[in-house]
Amino acid sequence: MIAAGAWSHRLARMLGDRLPLETERGYNTTFPQASFDLRTHLTFPAHGFVVTRIGEGLRVGGAVELGGLDLPPDYRRAAILVKKAAEFLPGFDPQGGTQWMGFRPSVPDSLPVIGRAKRADRVIYAFGHGHLGLTQSAGTAELVAALADGGVPEIALERFRPDRF
Ligand SMILES: Cc1cc2nc3c(=O)[nH]c(=O)nc-3n(C[C@H](O)[C@H](O)[C@H](O)COP(=O)(O)OP(=O)(O)OC[C@H]3O[C@@H](n4cnc5c(N)ncnc54)[C@H](O)[C@@H]3O)c2cc1C
Repeated sequence: MIAAGAWSHRLARMLGDRLPLETERGYNTTFPQASFDLRTHLTFPAHGFVVTRIGEGLRVGGAVELGGLDLPPDYRRAAILVKKAAEFLPGFDPQGGTQWMGFRPSVPDSLPVIGRAKRADRVIYAFGHGHLGLTQSAGTAELVAALADGGVPEIALERFRPDRF
């Protein structure tokens, strides 16, 4: 199985499949101690960031950067999100956070790639979940398990076929 997130197309290429996988890079900053009592997840859609409770702390995240797999992170993007959060949330202390950049594995139609390699049908692909890979991971695992067992997946996999592009 190839489930290597944003790196998966490089492996699929070795099997003769050219898949239009890109990475939408995202950034966040995690503050170990919440500086105010956040009771729910906050989304600021017009400004492209969210604020979430993480254990005792807070996370400010968002951004989409088309920078590929090799460009170094540009943490100014994380800093911009924190600055915006501080403008909206007067009780928020923007000091002492840890910055992070991650790779969302995205394809043009925003549907994952789930199915067998064209020239090696023992190989199953499961990648390309974009912004929703955590949410969709359990469902994808069930589909892939059914494929690997030679069973019938609970939903049709036509829309997710690797050769749809
Ligand atoms: C800032 C940000 C916020 C996000 N927020 C959410 C959210 O709120 N909800 C949500 O559902 N999703 C969210 N996502 C998206 C989610 O993180 C991804 O969709 C998900 O991580 C994809 O899972 P994956 O297992 O396919 O890839 P990854 O999590 O990237 O895992 C792939 C793994 O494969 C490994 N690998 C690569 N090449 C090889 C190789 N040759 N051999 C062996 N291993 C290899 C990598 O090291 C990596 O560990 C967010 C992403 C970002 C960046």
